[in-house]
Amino acid sequence: MRNRKLRFVALLTTLLLIGFLSTSYISYFVAHESIVSQVEKTTLPLTSDNIYSEIQQDLLRPIFISSIMAQDTFVRDWVINGEKDESAMIRFLKEIQVQYGTVTSFFVSEKTRKYYHSTGVLKVVNKINKQDEWYFRVQGMLQDYEINVDVDTADKTSLTIFINHRIYDYEGQYIGAIGVGLAVEAVKTLIENYKNRYGRQIYFVDKEGNLTLRGISHNGMENIRQEDGLSIFATKILTSPSSSVIYEKDDMKTYLNSRFVPEFKWYLIVEQQEDAAELRIQNTLMMNLFVSTIFSIIIVFLVNLIIGRYQHKLETMATTDKLTGAANRQVFDVLFTQAYNQSKRREGKLSAIMMDIDYFKQVNDTYGHPTGDVVLKTLTHIVKDNVRESDILFRWGGEEFLIILPECNLEKASKVAENIRQAVENHDVKFAGNSLSITLSLGIATMLENETANELVNRSDKVLYQAKQKGRNRIEVAD
Ligand code: GH3
Ligand code: MG
Ligand code: MG
Repeated sequence: MRNRKLRFVALLTTLLLIGFLSTSYISYFVAHESIVSQVEKTTLPLTSDNIYSEIQQDLLRPIFISSIMAQDTFVRDWVINGEKDESAMIRFLKEIQVQYGTVTSFFVSEKTRKYYHSTGVLKVVNKINKQDEWYFRVQGMLQDYEINVDVDTADKTSLTIFINHRIYDYEGQYIGAIGVGLAVEAVKTLIENYKNRYGRQIYFVDKEGNLTLRGISHNGMENIRQEDGLSIFATKILTSPSSSVIYEKDDMKTYLNSRFVPEFKWYLIVEQQEDAAELRIQNTLMMNLFVSTIFSIIIVFLVNLIIGRYQHKLETMATTDKLTGAANRQVFDVLFTQAYNQSKRREGKLSAIMMDIDYFKQVNDTYGHPTGDVVLKTLTHIVKDNVRESDILFRWGGEEFLIILPECNLEKASKVAENIRQAVENHDVKFAGNSLSITLSLGIATMLENETANELVNRSDKVLYQAKQKGRNRIEVAD
């Protein structure tokens, strides 16, 4: 019975925990997935789009300025006329620089290879000079202009864009490259803004993964191939037009979105770390688990209590007589053994009193069965008033009762029996406004060495029979 209860409580606990844990975890994962997909599919791509369109806008201006310069008749006439007055060209470049607020402005002549700048003639470009590579690229290219991005290798937060525009004479002959360099302020501002407002990290890497442009507060990363956690995704990022990955950075989940910017031949990378929302749902999960555990404990505790009570009630029902509340014969063996062991421990005697109501049949016949029941209940009360807590009262038969008295010798048992006999005799049993009195016959026996419980009960029963024969309402003691 007790094992079954344990098994049931264990099963209930398991079911509750499985139920609570699974709902907590499911709701956590749903919330988590929606946050992840929001960051991956919406937030980062939008940021990336935003920055990309900002870049394109920033590029429009220098392209426009360069194309104006390339169309300028002064420049073309001046070149066709043999680049005579160098100061005129320098003045023109300076004028452009001031008027449009560019970082630099330049013209390289195809004929003389002179590099004209707003500050003077800087040099003559040369094929073998690596710095001049760009000119020879422009010289051979098919389109009218190219965008060349120049990053200050010492300061990766600054970015200058050069527009190298081809310039032609009136016959369509290529006569040089002209253009401006412009600081891309807006992109820088945007990078800082995203960092400060949303905690998003924005940077650019070239096709080899080298960091080319970043915000002021960016970490000291040089190449994404050398970055812990990120390196394994580097090839994926550097070979696809756009990608999104999740990697671990400083023990935090980091979401990354990349896209190729063809104008620069760079990858624009937007990163966001596991954010407050993620932490919030983790806290909610912890809270859920805590509440679930508390509830499980309360439920299991209550169920345990209820089952315990129910079990106790069942046990009582199975072992006690419903009418009188006395123990029934089913539990005699168990209770007798307890009483016997108690007596033995304290080296005392154990006695038994068997008793039977005199002429009880007449009570039933005269006053009816319900009145008989009242008599039986009243008798039980009287007996209980006259015995100790440790004495055990059994309803042995219809109106026959047995009392087992541990640690009680024959003399004491006789006294108890006499008290009961007198108390019953002197008691008026009240019923439905009437009253009647009854008497008892009692037989007493004290357990002998090597005697069994049955033998003891039989001896007390025998002397009870004698008491009946000798005229009832009396006590007989077994030798
Ligand atoms: P004696 O003095 O010889 O014991 O006479 P008696 O009439 O008491 O003897 P007997 O054993 O013949 O009668 C017992 C009666 O007890 C018979 C039965 O109807 C009645 N009885 C047994 N159980 C109950 C009960 O639960 N309620 C009531 N009201 N009567 C019961
Ligand atoms: Mg009787
Ligand atoms: Mg009887």
